[in-house]
Amino acid sequence: MKKIVITNEEEVPLPSGAVSLPTGSIFDLIPPKQPAPVQLEPRALAFLREHFPTAEEKEWTNWKWQLSNSITTAEKLGRIVDLTDEELRAVSGEGGVLPLRITPHYASLLAKSDPDQPLRRSVIPVTAEHQRCFGEAEDPLHEEHDSPVSGLVHRYPDRVLFLATGFCSTYCRYCTRSRMVGDANRMHQFSTKIWDEAIGYIERTPTIRDVLISGGDPLTMPDAKIEYLLSRIRKIEHVEIIRIGTKVPAVLPQRITPKLVNILKRYHPLLLSVHFTHPDELTPEVAQACTRLADAGIPLGSQTVLLKGINDDVPTMTALFHKLLKVRVRPYYLYQCDPIVGSGHFRTTVEKGLEIIRGLRGHTSGYAVPQFVVDAPGGGGKIPLLPDYWQGRDTDYVYVKNYEDKTYRYPNIQQAVAPS
Ligand code: SF4
Repeated sequence: MKKIVITNEEEVPLPSGAVSLPTGSIFDLIPPKQPAPVQLEPRALAFLREHFPTAEEKEWTNWKWQLSNSITTAEKLGRIVDLTDEELRAVSGEGGVLPLRITPHYASLLAKSDPDQPLRRSVIPVTAEHQRCFGEAEDPLHEEHDSPVSGLVHRYPDRVLFLATGFCSTYCRYCTRSRMVGDANRMHQFSTKIWDEAIGYIERTPTIRDVLISGGDPLTMPDAKIEYLLSRIRKIEHVEIIRIGTKVPAVLPQRITPKLVNILKRYHPLLLSVHFTHPDELTPEVAQACTRLADAGIPLGSQTVLLKGINDDVPTMTALFHKLLKVRVRPYYLYQCDPIVGSGHFRTTVEKGLEIIRGLRGHTSGYAVPQFVVDAPGGGGKIPLLPDYWQGRDTDYVYVKNYEDKTYRYPNIQQAVAPS
């Protein structure tokens, strides 16, 4: 197959304060750097040809084209995958909380005839979403309760969660904030007036040193809005770090343009928490997006939700975390799935999460082992859990088990013993 070479580079303006080289300098002799060409993956090209025959290859690499051509109806989805009766009823029927939305990029990764494919299960609804199981709630983490002003959650003393938007380019069926994202009834507002009130709260709360911008997905917003928000928060002296929570690099990697990266890096220290679910998400386009971000000095950490039949086994998680490290994303959190309404078919036991951590720790690099946490229902916050490495203690020793299940003892220093 003939490979088509295209570019998705955009002209990047100099950041304010940057110094232009004087004309007539030796640098004039150096030819301007040509943007690196990007090759459309054969998979993406074949998908484009089949499902968007009138679109050009360069449109595929445009994130706005990806958004405006996202799959939002049963009819469009049915042309891409063979929908089961159950999927068809869930996609066409009333009663689901989250709308359907899948970018063409992500849709190109879905298995046409395998309804159990992990990626497919994570974005195509089934009727089980409409069932409420034991312990489930619309807002199990009590975020609304810990919201001093609209659009802001202040649970921990020194940091806040800033809910910037209710929009995502692709809706994950297990979304913790399904009560507010893709909100067809517009129950939650995300206007700049609401933002200003949230920013005002941060300004007058000097204990806040860390702002996590999330939503919805903040990187689906236009560049100007992202820059407005970052610049407002960066002006607050007591805010030390800004974090952005996003799934965009995994579902809409085309959004990570040089122009966006150039904006983000003006607001360092800025960190990105990137949501990944499965190793099959790590395509060359995704690798390029992560590389761009990492090259801009943005520390990247991953967040993964433990999902039954999707990623709840050691080989899948090992592959995911190894692939993430290769694109410079540090596995950061593995979450026990939150008990939102309709999540029963996604949730597995806490013991399964511990089993996965046990299967990773010691068997691979420590950098590839995320922290396993339960976000405590009722607003208790993230609670880390570890397999039972701690075996007990006596007067002189603590007893600990290693990854091979062998017990060792460590001579514990006694408080009363003075150094010789
Ligand atoms: S990207 Fe995040 S906020 Fe959006 S649907 Fe997925 S989990 Fe929810």
